[in-house]
Amino acid sequence: MRAHLALLRELPARRWLLVLLLWLALGGALALFGHTLVLERHREGFEQTARQIKQELESRLKVGETLLFGLSEMLGYHPGLSVDRFYNYALEASRRYPFIYTMSYLPRVGANERAAFEQSLPLTDPSAPYIKDHPMAIANDWRNRRGWVPAPPRALYYPWLIAAPALAKEDDALTGFDMLNDRLFGPVLQKAFRSGETEVTTPFVMMNGETALGYARAIYHTTPPPEEPEQRTQQASGAVVLMVRVNGLLEQHYPPSSRISVSLSLYGDAPTPLEKTLYQGTPSANPSSLEVLLLPRLSMRLPVDVPYFPYELVIEEQVPEGVIQPSILLAALAFSGLLAYLSAVVMAQNIRTHRHHEDAVDDLYRERGHAMVTLQAINDAVLTVDTQMRVRYLNPMAVKLLGVEPEQTVGRPVYQTMQLRYEFARQAVADPIVLCLQRGQAVDLAENCVLAPPDRETLLIEGSVSPLFDRSGELFGAVMAFRNTAPLRQRMLEALEASEKRLRQHEVELARVARLNTMGEMASGIAHELNQPLSAIVSYCQAALSLLGDDDPPKEMVVKALHSSMTQAERAGQIIQRLRAFVTKSQQQWVPVDLNLSVGNVLSLAEYDLRTSQIHVRTHLAPGLPLVFADTIQIEQVILNLLRNAIDAVQTRSDWGELTLETSLVQDKVCLSVRDNGCGLPDEVLDHLFDPFFTTKQHGMGLGLTICHSIVESFGGRLFARNRLEGGAEFRIELPRLSPGHFAQQAASERTI
Ligand code: ADP
Repeated sequence: MRAHLALLRELPARRWLLVLLLWLALGGALALFGHTLVLERHREGFEQTARQIKQELESRLKVGETLLFGLSEMLGYHPGLSVDRFYNYALEASRRYPFIYTMSYLPRVGANERAAFEQSLPLTDPSAPYIKDHPMAIANDWRNRRGWVPAPPRALYYPWLIAAPALAKEDDALTGFDMLNDRLFGPVLQKAFRSGETEVTTPFVMMNGETALGYARAIYHTTPPPEEPEQRTQQASGAVVLMVRVNGLLEQHYPPSSRISVSLSLYGDAPTPLEKTLYQGTPSANPSSLEVLLLPRLSMRLPVDVPYFPYELVIEEQVPEGVIQPSILLAALAFSGLLAYLSAVVMAQNIRTHRHHEDAVDDLYRERGHAMVTLQAINDAVLTVDTQMRVRYLNPMAVKLLGVEPEQTVGRPVYQTMQLRYEFARQAVADPIVLCLQRGQAVDLAENCVLAPPDRETLLIEGSVSPLFDRSGELFGAVMAFRNTAPLRQRMLEALEASEKRLRQHEVELARVARLNTMGEMASGIAHELNQPLSAIVSYCQAALSLLGDDDPPKEMVVKALHSSMTQAERAGQIIQRLRAFVTKSQQQWVPVDLNLSVGNVLSLAEYDLRTSQIHVRTHLAPGLPLVFADTIQIEQVILNLLRNAIDAVQTRSDWGELTLETSLVQDKVCLSVRDNGCGLPDEVLDHLFDPFFTTKQHGMGLGLTICHSIVESFGGRLFARNRLEGGAEFRIELPRLSPGHFAQQAASERTI
């Protein structure tokens, strides 16, 4: 439910309006449909009622016919039937059938019988002639006595004689009215004489204003009546007329509260004014279209199955307001409300789906834009092919590397555009694109893969071919991404050289720092070393001054003392100079170096330490030792480091220590071996000897041998260490002897750097 509400909140106001309209329209339509069903039921009831009315009418009409038939038969058999019998018959009939207005007898009166006939009748109105006409025949003027005129002499008369039940007093004027000459009854009587059957008039307005129908039937004394119509007319002895109230015919006893109107209409004609209306209420005079729709006027035209009755029954009903049922409207609104709600949910869902779709399309376009810009901008060449190996796309770098026009390339087989070859390939290499399409997996280009664009230099390339799958996971092509490796290799070389240079600078710097550190440790010894020549200088100068204080100073001795002090000063100067050179920050300088000389320099620097440590130093310096090509200071740093390590190792022993420094030439290598009789190198030390920061000393830094190792290697030499059989350790440096090639090599390296 909460999800529904969240969904519905996304529905814009316009859609809500639509939902509202839908609700109302659907509710209205459903209510109308429901109302139509109710109306239909009502209509069925109406039709049933109409059929009952019709049956009632038919039975009444037949009753009229039967009554008339009976009366005519009675009069035919008993011509002298008493008036009382006639009255009784008519009264009984009208009592049973209220639609009967009156019955009358029309005797046949010939021209010669007229006078006798007129005299035989009781005189009710002395001023009125007995056999008479009413030529005006105006409906409501029957009672106007001035309308009556004596009938002119005619061959035959059928005057109105008896009216039973009796008419109102004013209507007595009818007695003697020659019906055969009447415009309405005349033709009907003629017809009845000829047919011998019951004939009916059209409805007419009677003297009392009521609408009536007249039945007429001829009376014959013979049974059956003559065959020929002419004979029948001749032999008729009179006629009987039955007048029935149309209202009475159509009067219904049920349903009492219906709004049904019943009328008669000649077949196909509009309803006649003979309308019997049973309305209980007044129908709306000008009903609106909605009223007509909801409360229509039901109508039926039913033919009356009585052969002589030329009318059809028109039955109408104004549907009553009670037919409208509010519960139908409520149910329709509730049901349509549910449908409208569901449609709102569906609409909201559609909107959300549409929005998601739009977002997805936007994302897709953005992604596509990114991809396209990336493909345009990158330095890698990208080329896509379909499963038929036809080119589908090339990015600008691919166009550049392949040297082709995209318009002429797209759609053509890829190997018309690009030829892949393999340098030094001993055997055929599988085509990477074919392999990728076959396996559906990424395939790297072989390392020796070269691109051979037509009319251009070949390019060594690297890259890979990756498969392209659609949403269903079906392979639809491959994308080959590759790059020219030449610029890359160039950049890598440059970076390598730069880093090597930096490394060398760091090493030099590190070596200098190590030297400074060593000098710091040797400072007291060196100061002591300097103290000696300085004390000697002071002693020589004092001696010279005391000699000069003599009256006759011995010139030669003074000169000798001064020379000696000069020698000592030079010695002190050399010590300081060496010290300065040792710690000065300087670039590595490759020069021919005499290893024997370097050994001497180092020994003089460490002389004090050696002496105070009571270590006996032996040197075996090979005469005529070849020079090596190296940096003097760094070589001396290496020797000093080895010497100091040896001193430290020897000091762990209580008895006198022994150090041997030996130079030699072994094949092309100039070697220096530093041997001691110290503690030696246990295996765990030997394994990590040249590792940075490896030390067994309490205040050691563990960098000395690491630096020595890299210095010796930088000069193309090697540094080894081993344990001596007789105890102690031996460190050995091997350096290539100086050769002419060294100078060429140095010149080249300087150019490179
Ligand atoms: P440090 O002298 O600061 O310890 P080194 O790199 O010079 O650093 O030496 C590393 C280790 O090698 C020393 O701590 C020591 O254990 C061992 N070592 C070096 N020279 C000798 C030697 N001549 N005899 C015995 N052990 C030695």
